[in-house]
Amino acid sequence: GVILIAATNRPDVLDPALLRPGRFDRQVVVPPPDIRGRKMFREVHCKRNALAKGVDLEILTQGTPGWTGADLENLDNEAALMAAKENKDVLAMSDFENAKDKVLMGKERRNMVQSPEDLKNTAYHEAGHAILNLLLPETDTLHKVTIIPRGRALGVTMYLPEEDKNTLTRVELESKIAMAFGGRAAELIIFNQVTTGASNDIKQATNMARSMVCKWGMSDLIGPMAVGEQSQEVFIGREWVANKDHSEEKARLVDAEVKRIIDTAMETADSLLREHIESLHRVANALLERETLTGDEVQRLMKGETLPLLDLKTNPKKLKTT
Ligand code: ZN
Repeated sequence: GVILIAATNRPDVLDPALLRPGRFDRQVVVPPPDIRGRKMFREVHCKRNALAKGVDLEILTQGTPGWTGADLENLDNEAALMAAKENKDVLAMSDFENAKDKVLMGKERRNMVQSPEDLKNTAYHEAGHAILNLLLPETDTLHKVTIIPRGRALGVTMYLPEEDKNTLTRVELESKIAMAFGGRAAELIIFNQVTTGASNDIKQATNMARSMVCKWGMSDLIGPMAVGEQSQEVFIGREWVANKDHSEEKARLVDAEVKRIIDTAMETADSLLREHIESLHRVANALLERETLTGDEVQRLMKGETLPLLDLKTNPKKLKTT
């Protein structure tokens, strides 16, 4: 077989013809390409498809940091499939956008029947995430928020980093954790109860908080020290773990630090949403009416602006309720 070994993190300097799918039996994967590399991959894929006027590969490639050539090919194939289903000869921006939403957020489950109460709960939950994204410092750009069930989720709030980022700061992480609790906080404020819908958020937030303490030295109490599996790799670490009293004390300290980070984030989420309760109602109601909002629309609602009337012909309702 013919094998391509692209031993570079600059696929953007490779000849596009080299990366043509099917040319090699095996390709050795290299670190994900940067934005120039990603754009180049797409130029290669899109030679197979006719593009409508106004399709901007540069814009389409933003918000895909960390995507590999294969991810992007999957995305571009999905866009071509979507256009073919509608008997279109050329691919429009909207086909790429819809394909990206499907790949990122999972397939729409339009046939799922929900009670109005469940929908309302989801609307406030997602509105909580979205509003915190706009209020907290150093967050990724709010892409879209929807209460149309996708994949295994009842609703989705999507954030997209605008540029390639290889590291995260403490502030960014604290914002991410508070944002993750936005859904649960909103449910508590409005309905005075929580649902199982927040379980994935809690898992994500806990993992991030634990990594901050144990991996990234972001707890002043623990200090810049790897705690857990990593420390066992070094001799001193093993010796330290063998000292049981010491490690149990440390484990308690770690748990207390993780809890402190989580409690602080939950408090931040709760107080910001209470402060902006009018925005929370406006965004949740707009979601119930429109089912999907762009980041820009959420921003306008938060400024107190009203959105233009919804044209149901171009935006048909997709949800079924009992
Ligand atoms: Zn959530």
